[in-house]
Amino acid sequence: MPTFVRTEKCDGCKGQDKTACMYICPHDLMKLDKDGSETGHAMKAFNQEPEQCWECYSCIKICPQNAIECRAYADIVPLGGSVQPLRGSDSIMWTIKFRNGTMKRFKFPIRTTPEGSIEPYADKPAVNMDDLDSPGLFTLKQSDLKGDKSQLICL
Ligand code: SF4
Ligand code: SF4
Repeated sequence: MPTFVRTEKCDGCKGQDKTACMYICPHDLMKLDKDGSETGHAMKAFNQEPEQCWECYSCIKICPQNAIECRAYADIVPLGGSVQPLRGSDSIMWTIKFRNGTMKRFKFPIRTTPEGSIEPYADKPAVNMDDLDSPGLFTLKQSDLKGDKSQLICL
């Protein structure tokens, strides 16, 4: 089931060229309607192909305005209920609304290190552009490669 945007909450990520939901969607589904010509709501994002939505919740978690919601599957979240995450810098707060009005909140940590502190390429060898066409992996030394490169099948 697809996501949808609460237009009263969405601020178009303050007019940036690429909004947070556009940046994160693995399927490029979110789109900002800059002039309102597509939806009648200028500077609001929308899911441009709802039937393609994976319901991965990425856009919902990243939206700084908590403006995106998901129509979850009815066997998990019956009509009238909702499941809404709110991502912080080190945790996600899930708000579960039952259709009888009961509300529950769960907060889960999502990381053990300060945000932005990880250096993904730390301790890795510097990139040698001459190795781009050679077989092997980024972390593998060329001298470790065995076999005859000329026998490789290149399509
Ligand atoms: S991330 Fe949220 S606030 Fe930003 S454009 Fe998308 S729906 Fe709007
Ligand atoms: S739920 Fe996932 S696939 Fe669907 S619009 Fe959001 S980020 Fe894209």
